[in-house]
Amino acid sequence: MALTGLDIFKQLPKTNCKDCGSATCLAFAMAMANGKASLDMCPHASEAAKENLGAATAPPVRTVKVGVGEQEVVMGDETVLYRHDKTFYHPTAFAIQISDTLSGAELDAKIAKINDLVMERVGQKIAIDMVAVTNCSGNAATFKAAVETIGAKANFALMLVSQDAAALEDALPGVAAKKPLIYAATAENWEKVVALAKANNCPVVVKGNGLDDTAALVEKVAAEYKELVIDFGNKQQAKTLAEMVNARRLAIKKKFRPFGYPMLACTVAADAQEEIVEAATYVAKYASIVCLKTDDKAQLLPLMAWRMNIYTDPQKPMAVDAKVYEIGEVGPDVPVYICTNFALTYFAVEGEVIGSKIPGYIVAVDTDGASVLTAWAAGKFVAEPIADFVKATGIMDKVNHNNIVIPGYVAIISGKLKEKSGLDVIVGPQEAAGIPAFAKARYPELMK
Ligand code: SF4
Repeated sequence: MALTGLDIFKQLPKTNCKDCGSATCLAFAMAMANGKASLDMCPHASEAAKENLGAATAPPVRTVKVGVGEQEVVMGDETVLYRHDKTFYHPTAFAIQISDTLSGAELDAKIAKINDLVMERVGQKIAIDMVAVTNCSGNAATFKAAVETIGAKANFALMLVSQDAAALEDALPGVAAKKPLIYAATAENWEKVVALAKANNCPVVVKGNGLDDTAALVEKVAAEYKELVIDFGNKQQAKTLAEMVNARRLAIKKKFRPFGYPMLACTVAADAQEEIVEAATYVAKYASIVCLKTDDKAQLLPLMAWRMNIYTDPQKPMAVDAKVYEIGEVGPDVPVYICTNFALTYFAVEGEVIGSKIPGYIVAVDTDGASVLTAWAAGKFVAEPIADFVKATGIMDKVNHNNIVIPGYVAIISGKLKEKSGLDVIVGPQEAAGIPAFAKARYPELMK
């Protein structure tokens, strides 16, 4: 039976010393009951408490960290199977492979291309997370040289990929301070590789062969070291997906400890577009790291957008500040667009207003981050609140006309909005993509 916060609280020291990061022992107990804290965070827990609570209250998926400082990647710590049950906490990390057979200018060009895989979407920076240096040469010295060069020049956390424990042992000391992920401990080499990871305080991937074999290997490794990531070692997309789903179900529903670690999946598709689709399935279910071959920015952007959508907290809509935004060199005659403060709506409108080459004001009405039709259905994007908001901003004092443009999807409110605001309400396009054509047709004299 699951322990309640009070069951846990009874076993804690009750000194409220805050050393665990919680304000009180009771708050810590509640966090433990919700799977958001583990007993090892309380340095004062008695041996009896550790024995009574330890396994029963550990989070279902352990938190594992790769990299340090700004390059740190946090994985795991997930508590639900479906994001709408609560939220997913740590977005899937993308690792881009670099072969150690590259050298000189070719290697530098590859690193520069990977360092450039940083983009912006709805006002947030999105980027890849790791570089997987792969010992394709099979040569320890070549691998070491590539690891050192990439470690010095790449802007992301490192993953060292080799089947050869000796090659890992040679390459690791030069970059150990960056806390790379070591790939991989297998049935053949795990004692050596895990000892290496432990000695250098680095996380390590445990690579098995299917569910049963991997569980048995993880149990052996975890008895020695727990900074683990799991790879089921598959070469087939459907099997990888099925095994990750089963493993995560067992970890969350049954608290099956061998699968209570972040999981890694390597793509197998040869075509870059198919690889992105494959990676997208792993992002949804339930990879903490996806290791990719492609470094094509155009291919990776939709994958990153997909990750952003999966890992956005469904209880907190992405919103921009509700206020007036100036786009371009605004003058008194520019159009005034009305939209909601849902980030995706706002940034779609902003992008199209910029694209129209006609400056304008965008009034992002406070709809608690709801989109146009959702906010309209909820009574947050209807005549009265819009009229009140527009008036409160004072935007109509900055222009020499009496017009506001509303999204075509809420044309139905135009009459009432005119009545409430005293403004002339122009029904704009339904989709933001229609703004450039709309603006050019209506305000040709304002084209910049
Ligand atoms: Fe209580 Fe332990 Fe947290 Fe201190 S560290 S507040 S004793 S739970």
